[in-house]
Amino acid sequence: MDYFKNLKPGQGVHRRFNELINKHVLVSPHRTKRPWKGQVEDPIVSDLPSYDKACYLCPGNERAGGYTNPRYDSVFTFDNDYPALLPPTAEDVEQIGEDHSGQQVYGRCKVMCFHPRHDVTLARMAHDDIVKVIRGWQEVYEQEGEAIRAMQKELNGPDEGYVQIFENRGAMMGCSAPHPHGQVWSMTYVPDEPHTEITRFSEHLKKHNAHLLLSYAQFEYENKERVVAVDEESGWIAVVPFWATWPYELLVMQYKRHIPSLLQCSEAERDGLARILKEVLVRYDNLFSCPFPYSMGLHQSPLPPLNPEADPAEVHFHFYPPLLRSASVRKFMVGFEMLGEVQLTALQRDVTPEQSAAKLRDVSSRHYTESVNGVSDIDGANGVNGANGVHMRAGANGVNGISTATGGHCANGVNGLPKANGVNGVAH
Ligand SMILES: [Zn+2]
Ligand SMILES: [Zn+2]
Repeated sequence: MDYFKNLKPGQGVHRRFNELINKHVLVSPHRTKRPWKGQVEDPIVSDLPSYDKACYLCPGNERAGGYTNPRYDSVFTFDNDYPALLPPTAEDVEQIGEDHSGQQVYGRCKVMCFHPRHDVTLARMAHDDIVKVIRGWQEVYEQEGEAIRAMQKELNGPDEGYVQIFENRGAMMGCSAPHPHGQVWSMTYVPDEPHTEITRFSEHLKKHNAHLLLSYAQFEYENKERVVAVDEESGWIAVVPFWATWPYELLVMQYKRHIPSLLQCSEAERDGLARILKEVLVRYDNLFSCPFPYSMGLHQSPLPPLNPEADPAEVHFHFYPPLLRSASVRKFMVGFEMLGEVQLTALQRDVTPEQSAAKLRDVSSRHYTESVNGVSDIDGANGVNGANGVHMRAGANGVNGISTATGGHCANGVNGLPKANGVNGVAH
């Protein structure tokens, strides 16, 4: 924590150093002449059905290549039908080369459906369902890590690789399927960004005998200015990082203890993680009363740690949302961002991270669609289950703030998908 004790925003236009990736961001607060006017657009309410027969992710539906999804009732993970990475073939194993200019890489890609229902999002899921997603991430990380280690063995390669878990949400982030899902890409190398981070973590640990992110999280916990949410019980904290480049970028990390990967989380820490992820996502949606687009990803030890105690990695989540002022006004990374500091991760921003954190703290932690619908008795913990109760009673006001017409959709969903809906409703 001492390392960060002098961390202070500069005066006027200033540069900030990103501790994680060894790059700078230019902050120009005077460019934000436009005062914050709060919500200027009508809340966006989704009219998605709970089941869509045209969705390739819904339970029981057909996917590319003649595959059919099982009628899953929880988290469902499958091989990506269009993988960006491929496992080695027998021929590859024989011809493995040493040329690093065009290094041959291998891996595989999976898709994880977070929920059988088409119309929910992580922000609107019940606590227990979010816990299932985290458990799904733990399992897939372990399995994919083993698969990469096996590939390396086959290739006579080093014990090296990475499992990248992420979610792209919203059309603005290039995600065309509204069904709640994320992806898992596993590979026989460590990509640049986590590689740089882990190098920084190791150096910091050697030099200061302290974990960099843990110290930083403790500093932010004391400082409060950039904190958006804290789960005191389990030690998770969400902050707009001092060096944030995207207007509402967030970092979710541990301020209590060193955890190298999700596999080292206790049950209480997993519970707390589900709580803070939900809070962050609800605040995001509430900021502009819209389903907030983002890319979210998890950084942790590259492969399941063999010696967790000595592992320098620190599990954390990055949220990179593109929105700047409203549901439709986004930040573009162009001009100086492309030319000035070379990498897309070292940029210029107008709103300070402290202002962004204050705005995220100011919005309600209750999802905006609940008040749109006049539904007042759903507390955060009830989430989808509570909302679904409303579904059942009113037959109209669904999870996403859907109007009467959706009552029909909902009913169809129930008939078409008794199992899936049973899970969301009351049966379990
Ligand atoms: Zn679907
Ligand atoms: Zn990271």
